[in-house]
Amino acid sequence: MSMAKPTKLNVLIVEDNSANLMLASAVLRRAGYRVSEARSAEDAIVRLAHSKPDLILMDVQLPGQDGLALTRQIKADPETADLIVVALTAHAMKEDRARALDAGCDGYIAKPINTRTLADELDGVLRARRLALGRAAL
Ligand code: MN
Repeated sequence: MSMAKPTKLNVLIVEDNSANLMLASAVLRRAGYRVSEARSAEDAIVRLAHSKPDLILMDVQLPGQDGLALTRQIKADPETADLIVVALTAHAMKEDRARALDAGCDGYIAKPINTRTLADELDGVLRARRLALGRAAL
């Protein structure tokens, strides 16, 4: 189980598949996250111009610009380079994980989404990232 959080963390879910988007959104809201949603890279870029989430859950396979290309763009822009990006990959294949990390992702989660572990996995990535930056743990 996730520990209660003193302040709500904001997560942006970028996912074109409605069922996955609704599932991830419901699970993370229940876990105490504040959730915003984007269905394409273009949609995500518009949202990021207005507010910066604590974490982005990024589907790799998107129509048009894909999730890894969008991650590279986010990491190349000083305005968004510090954002934590967790890839949602279709396969847990070694090369998919390597491609996600190579694109700048801070972590990855394989589909299908496990509703029992998703929030804890994101918490783990956030904690590891903050420790790596020498900040206080969550
Ligand atoms: Mn997709």
